[in-house]
Amino acid sequence: MNTESFCHLIGGQCETGNATMDVRNPATGEVFAQAPKAGEALLNAAVTAATDAFPAWSASPIDERKKVLHAIAGAIEEQVDELASLFTREHGRPVPAAKAELLGAAMWLKATTMLDIPVEVTEDTDDRRIEVHHVPLGVVCALVPWNFPILLAAWKIGPALLAGNTLVLKPSPFTPLTTLKLGELIRDAAPAGVINIISGGDELGPMMTSHPGFAKISFTGSTQTGRKVMESASRDLKRITLELGGNDASIIFPDVDVEKVAEQLFEGAFHNTAQVCVATKRMYIHEDIYDALRDRLAQLAKDAKVGDGSQQGTRFGPIQNEAQYRRVLALIEDAKASGLTLIEGADVPEKGYFIPLTLVDNPPEDAKVVTEEAFGPVLPLLKWKDVDDVVQRANDTEYGLAGAVWSANIEQATATAHRLDTGTVWINQCLQSTPFTPLAGAKQSGFGQENGVDGLLEFTRPKAVYIPKTDTVT
Ligand code: NAD
Repeated sequence: MNTESFCHLIGGQCETGNATMDVRNPATGEVFAQAPKAGEALLNAAVTAATDAFPAWSASPIDERKKVLHAIAGAIEEQVDELASLFTREHGRPVPAAKAELLGAAMWLKATTMLDIPVEVTEDTDDRRIEVHHVPLGVVCALVPWNFPILLAAWKIGPALLAGNTLVLKPSPFTPLTTLKLGELIRDAAPAGVINIISGGDELGPMMTSHPGFAKISFTGSTQTGRKVMESASRDLKRITLELGGNDASIIFPDVDVEKVAEQLFEGAFHNTAQVCVATKRMYIHEDIYDALRDRLAQLAKDAKVGDGSQQGTRFGPIQNEAQYRRVLALIEDAKASGLTLIEGADVPEKGYFIPLTLVDNPPEDAKVVTEEAFGPVLPLLKWKDVDDVVQRANDTEYGLAGAVWSANIEQATATAHRLDTGTVWINQCLQSTPFTPLAGAKQSGFGQENGVDGLLEFTRPKAVYIPKTDTVT
């Protein structure tokens, strides 16, 4: 049991409140720590602190705001070992990969400071000049999922603060601790109330989205929850950005070298135990290389160590929480009951939320394991022979987050990539994103975008200023 105590960050103070909630280590399934649990009173306190901090913060020079982002990044870098160890205990991810996320978040915050808020000039004549400024919105509500708790928090903290907003951020109830610990470390990095972090149970998210003190909701999570967020935001027309689920397809042409691409394809599907929004969730393999690639992927799954992320040599950790574990198990049971052929990877520990990396051998297109976002290590491999047909199958989903095309013929791959109805598409690579490139889901994978200047502008509203050049009033 971890006896360390954790606190919310509200108005620059460490607030413990009087309620707590269990936090489990998914590698054991056991409660290992308590997180503070905020209710309405602490939420109101956080919103008030953020509201009070807004006038001065939004008026501060952008370079001052950039300094704060650098200070937060520095705090992560300085304490990365301590934070990574806590991350692994609450999340399950192996320590080196936990560290990579933390350092990735620091890099992202620093890269965000390379962005500036543009002023557009839409008219500049002898009579007048019209400037479009992008002004901050007010207090932002940031809701983060459990799969990349720190990186995805940084994707919100960076642009929200840089644009001059203040913020109340809530981590997932499954992974609150590393975010709260980070809150403690950055207590003095920003003026009090500029950044507030509160954790709570299932009821806190809806309480936040319906709170009238927020001007904007920046949400990352499932499509199902995204719909509820949008509905709640509609009541007072809060601005929203929704980064939602996906069921991404990779299309593999027969001209690839199976030996060369297998490891990249494997990582693209199973990274973070397949709990990645933009992971390959349906792999379409040309029939000429299907057997060879399936067998190579099966071997990689047999060779990969799945276990407790705190043990050296573990490549894949457990499923992060029990509800998700049960959801993935149910998909596997459904596939078995439908008579599909499953190929299991290496054995996994009995205790904890572990599931072997599993391939499903050419299931029909309407199998649940193909149509649903698994968000866990069960990957359908599907045969194709006609390009038009495979593009149609890849696009036949309510989702449109990302996709990938693999071919030695870049022209052919690029032409196919342009036909995929997604916000991102990779050619001969996967899982890539940069601080300067928007991530924007198509269809029911999202609304709005994160990253880059366009992602930054989502935390602002345009304000047109008409400036006369001739005197018409005296
Ligand atoms: P989730 O939707 O259950 O929860 C996301 C966050 O919203 C959590 O903080 C949660 O506590 C909160 N929440 C839950 N119900 C709420 C409600 N009714 N109102 C307001 N807030 C509420 O998602 P999850 O299970 O934590 O994450 C997994 C999902 O996130 C997957 O579908 C994955 O594809 C998606 N995801 C998308 C992206 C992206 O950038 N598009 C990135 C990562 C994860």
